[in-house]
Amino acid sequence: MSTPEFDQVLQVTPPRFTREEAFTIAAETFGVSATGVEDLGSERDQTLMLVGTDGPLAVMKISNPAEDPEVLDMEALVALHARRADPTLPVALPRLAPGHGSGDDPAAYRVRFDAEDGSHFVRMYDVLPGRGRFDATTLSDAAVSNWGQITARLGRATRGFFHSKAQRTMLWDVQHAPRTRALLPDVRDPGQRAMVERVLDRFDEVVAPVWPILRAQVVHGDLTVDNALIDDDGMITAIIDFGDMGHSALVTDVSSILDSLVVDREPEEIFRVARLVLDGYQRVTPLEPIELRILGELLATRSAVTIAISSWRVAKGLENAEFAGRYNGSVARTIEVILDAGWDEVARRLGSPGRPSPDLAERRTRALGPAMEPLTYEHPITMASARGVWMTDTEGRTYLDAYNNVPCVGHSHPRVTEAIARQSRLLNTNMRYLHAAAVELAERLIATCPPGLDTVLFVNSGSEANDLAWRLATTYTGNRGGLCTAMAYHGISDAIAPLSPETWPASRPPQHIEAWEPPDTYRGLHADPSVFAAALERLAARDHAPAAAILDAVLTSDGFYDLDPALVQTWVRLTHEAGGLWIADEVQGGHGRTGDAMWSFQRHGIEPDFVTLGKPMGNGHPVAAVITRREIAERFAEETVFFSTFGGNPVSAAAGLAVLDVLEDERVLPRVVLAGEALRAAIREVASRHPAIGDVRGMGLANGIEIVSGPASSEPDGAGAAAIKDRLREHGVLVGSTGHAGNILKVRPPLAFTTAEVPVFAAALDAALGAG
Ligand code: PMP
Repeated sequence: MSTPEFDQVLQVTPPRFTREEAFTIAAETFGVSATGVEDLGSERDQTLMLVGTDGPLAVMKISNPAEDPEVLDMEALVALHARRADPTLPVALPRLAPGHGSGDDPAAYRVRFDAEDGSHFVRMYDVLPGRGRFDATTLSDAAVSNWGQITARLGRATRGFFHSKAQRTMLWDVQHAPRTRALLPDVRDPGQRAMVERVLDRFDEVVAPVWPILRAQVVHGDLTVDNALIDDDGMITAIIDFGDMGHSALVTDVSSILDSLVVDREPEEIFRVARLVLDGYQRVTPLEPIELRILGELLATRSAVTIAISSWRVAKGLENAEFAGRYNGSVARTIEVILDAGWDEVARRLGSPGRPSPDLAERRTRALGPAMEPLTYEHPITMASARGVWMTDTEGRTYLDAYNNVPCVGHSHPRVTEAIARQSRLLNTNMRYLHAAAVELAERLIATCPPGLDTVLFVNSGSEANDLAWRLATTYTGNRGGLCTAMAYHGISDAIAPLSPETWPASRPPQHIEAWEPPDTYRGLHADPSVFAAALERLAARDHAPAAAILDAVLTSDGFYDLDPALVQTWVRLTHEAGGLWIADEVQGGHGRTGDAMWSFQRHGIEPDFVTLGKPMGNGHPVAAVITRREIAERFAEETVFFSTFGGNPVSAAAGLAVLDVLEDERVLPRVVLAGEALRAAIREVASRHPAIGDVRGMGLANGIEIVSGPASSEPDGAGAAAIKDRLREHGVLVGSTGHAGNILKVRPPLAFTTAEVPVFAAALDAALGAG
């Protein structure tokens, strides 16, 4: 019985001409006079090596009588196209038949030959070097990786090709896998049949729904060990058959080679070899996340299809039962290993991030220990992805991110991620070699600063930037004392932790540091310049002259108070008068956070001696910098030299440049002003109904909501703020908390936050407060 909806060539007996007939055919069609033949084996054609007295002459393919000549034309054209697109790919090319036309006419590569069983088309191919019929398990690691690369190159070489016959129902193409259910009755072994069914069920459930969004093109579809020749090292020397080609998902090429290369291996080896193949493939063509996610299913499907088709062909008398049985047994073991491991685990082992393990938090504690900052929220969120101002957890829940300032221009901004990926594919090295990216970044940063700030040093984190600024300051001034605000945080290093009272051990305030209280604009406290002068005096009383004072001008850790420029100018003047330098820490307030200026110190009309940059500078990629005056750098250079291995590397610099580009091109700063104003107005409107909100303040998208213990009270309510933060999370919004009492909600979203998100935030805040 013929199954009409399938490609007919799989259902009709292949030609079986005798040796003498083959000689006649070769001579009559292509004028090749052979003295010997060797059967090279074929599922649907008769493929013969023609041999003369001096050795091999050509490979002759006598097509199946059911073959559509236009399909053969497509095979000729694709081989010629691939060779043109990638001339070093060893694609076997068809020969022009003598007297049949020119190379532009695909029909000139085939000659019709009529026999008793019908018409056949004869094609002649050059003999390429290499050997076939080898065992895939003997291939070295380098060879399987190379196999992946060649497959990807072939995919690239055919991606610009199309032919109307490329849309076909070739059963080996896994996109038609559901049709092979009709063949299941021919799978004799009940265990194998059940396995094939399970795989086809999984295909229907997981693969079929995403099929329309997979990258598709004309693919070879079958670069298996049967369709390639190799050299002594196992490297492909010839790609010899396009018989299964068609328009399909690109990734089907990968599943077909995996199916062929991992067969007959131990379970662990199956995955290791598959990863090597994938690595090779992805050196040329990186797979998309969705392709990687379904790759296990595609591999299993390809194996399942193999069992179904060959069992069916055995039943039709088209294939040798013993050989098919042996091969099906091997393929079935691949499926077994996949099913035993489980689909998620297979995806993970093939390089796709799997589902989170439920004990991840315990594993974190076990591996990272108690010094690590605890997770946020009692039931921590396991994040999976993020885009713009939206973050998605592994359960698929999406949150409005009103907290994270690092992804300054928005999570995963494509211009930044592309810049990073592109540069890291090209080159990543250090500043001992000349490279334009860091130099250009330095120039562009200098251009954003007042004229005196003309020298940039690159490091890798905000802590390092402040550490280096501190070192430059102590070197320049010869002083060792320092000043910072009362709840400041400036970093983790041995020099900077003392300038971070937020993390001071209560019992051991550092001797050489003094903290000053910034003005509390809500309660009308500490507004007088004498507060700062007193800190300087306390320092002097302990015999310390200041090397530097450091300020985050949006006061993130102290509580987002909007500072009076005149007051800040006084602080800077007093510091300079005492012999110290001024560090503007722009790790929080910089890169447009306040909207009115690139750097928050610019709001205050001061000229700092150092500008330190971090977090948002690379939109999540670690990169940081110190911008300072030339004479300060010169003093340092008299004593030593600065070099940091990763500082200014081309990838980090590319990230930094991309962030600056986006800030400019998307006109981010004016957008921040509008979004910030709308946000504060909306929060104030919510506050009018909720006395727990004592104050709403901020600059641009650096904002604080002060939670107090009730009507007419300005008593900080840290526990209340923590509860609201938790409830906001339940309502899909992420914020932080800050301040002495932890009672100030930190609303500091990526700068991709626009007025469009303001109502979402306000509604969630209203709901979170209402529940209290
Ligand atoms: N300065 C300020 C103002 C900061 O907020 C931080 C980090 N929160 C740092 C410096 C330290 O940056 P990093 O964590 O990148 O070392």
